[in-house]
Amino acid sequence: MTARLLRGGPAADALLAEATARAARLPAPPQLVMLRLGEDPASVSYVRGKDRRAREVGLKSTVYALPETTSQAELLDLIARLNADDTVNGILVQLPLPLHIQEQTVLHAIDPRKDVDGFHPLNVGELWSGRPALRPCTPAGILYLLDHYGIPVAGQRAVVVGRSSIVGRPLAGLLLHRDATVTVAHSRTPDLGAVTREADLLCVAVGQPHLITPDMVRPGATVVDVGINRVLGEGGGKAQLTGDVAPEVAQVAGAITPVPGGVGPMTIAQLLANTVLAAELQAKGRAAR
Ligand code: NAP
Repeated sequence: MTARLLRGGPAADALLAEATARAARLPAPPQLVMLRLGEDPASVSYVRGKDRRAREVGLKSTVYALPETTSQAELLDLIARLNADDTVNGILVQLPLPLHIQEQTVLHAIDPRKDVDGFHPLNVGELWSGRPALRPCTPAGILYLLDHYGIPVAGQRAVVVGRSSIVGRPLAGLLLHRDATVTVAHSRTPDLGAVTREADLLCVAVGQPHLITPDMVRPGATVVDVGINRVLGEGGGKAQLTGDVAPEVAQVAGAITPVPGGVGPMTIAQLLANTVLAAELQAKGRAAR
């Protein structure tokens, strides 16, 4: 058996088409502001990609490329000004931040209504309470992708490998909210294969190339590979992207997301959809005042 490929591109296009149709009904194009400190090549590339995609779909995007030496006080001051600016609908601080800045302090300073990454504790609490709020982009994008391809979630036995606050934990919360029976595995889980073999829906967000091998997957299961790992090509050639799931798993699984081109496009699309949602909620809030 060869698994059905759940490509992110078409699902991301559908999500963006919905978001841009909603954005067109707003009085002005929603504005996303991204703050980046320093010149970490991965951060530069991620922010550039989000900025380009935002403009392509007609959102307003502003990038502050700040020096790595920017102090925490300066960063908090800028966030306070963006919080107070009604023309700014979404604020994203690209992680990781330089070591002299406390990530939690910065993320907590963003107005939860503009927290398009969904990392503010208020939004985290709303997620676990099952109430509507801005959701972290990768997990919310994964749920959209599953729905797009008609993969059932309710009543399924879901296993999430990885418990980061960016992917694993919020994904477990969203799956639970959608009535899956959820198990979360992590680095201290003994006999990982025995746990993953239980899954109808296996989501892996670890950051270790090919951690999941075919013997760890129930035949016919849906496998969502969140991992993005840079590995050297054959003979030490150009680096290639690979997931946390070994390619041979496609011979066992019923459906699988490719890497690259699976979850990755969903993350950016969901960020832009979150920006539109934030703008809608802010407009509603202003109308009610
Ligand atoms: P992270 O913060 O490093 O968390 C990794 C998680 O994996 C931790 O919970 C860790 O457990 C667990 N883990 C480590 N080794 C394990 C093992 N041998 N068995 C089981 N669990 C193990 O990483 P992250 O931010 O969640 O990212 C995970 C991967 O997803 C990375 O490759 C990242 O690049 C990728 N990612 C992709 C997207 C996308 O858009 N496609 C977005 C975000 C992240 P402990 O908690 O016990 O340490």
